[in-house]
Amino acid sequence: MIHLKNSAQITAMKDAGRITGEALLLARDMVRPGVTTYEIDEAIRRYIEKCGAKPTFLGYGGFPASACISINDEVIHGIPSKKRVLKEGDIVKIDTGATYHGYVGDSARTIPVGAVSAEARKLIEVTRNSFFKGVEQVKIGNRIGDIGAAIDGLVVANGYTTVKRYVGHGVGEEMHESPDVPNFGTAGRGTRLCAGMTIAIEPMVNVGREDVRELPDGWTVKTADGSLSAHYENTIALTSDGVLILTQVEKDF
Ligand code: MG
Ligand code: MG
Repeated sequence: MIHLKNSAQITAMKDAGRITGEALLLARDMVRPGVTTYEIDEAIRRYIEKCGAKPTFLGYGGFPASACISINDEVIHGIPSKKRVLKEGDIVKIDTGATYHGYVGDSARTIPVGAVSAEARKLIEVTRNSFFKGVEQVKIGNRIGDIGAAIDGLVVANGYTTVKRYVGHGVGEEMHESPDVPNFGTAGRGTRLCAGMTIAIEPMVNVGREDVRELPDGWTVKTADGSLSAHYENTIALTSDGVLILTQVEKDF
């Protein structure tokens, strides 16, 4: 069942979204060669708690940290560690969430570590652009399939692949609510979009094949062929006045 939110609930989600977005800005500003993923995770946790919110990821399904931090061919769900040191040329995906007054924000970014390859820069850019292609389809009366078709269309046009195994989702009082929001699909198909829907759109894009595998740690997901992967996610709300991107606090990020 889809939990539609009224305007008071969407106002509460704006706060959760803003805190989540600010935590990611702070994380971005820490990214440089020599920093561990543990240090970034700790800073995110402290910031969210300082805001009076709860790190949504901490303990979720047993996850041991406040952010998923995934490097290069790791797609999602990387576990922060004192042993994971960022190095020049890496790309790092940081995915986090904050729960504030009972509502969740969920957002991710891919950040270059120092100077990265032209391929890595293009991948990050295409992944981000594919998110906004999807958002263009978020209109009352459109369908879930319109979002995925737009995302996948841009990805494929750039010679990349969209991960199919993991998808976006409704978000609200829970981090994962109905409906699923795949990053692929058929235009005109699927659940109809209506005012009050709050969803996380989160393209995961690979340079190589779409296949992924989970590591024995039970969390980390990597590309099966070892190719680079990028991720971009925001929590958005569809209202009668249009779309609000709740977790984006800086225009170009
Ligand atoms: Mg996320
Ligand atoms: Mg998500």
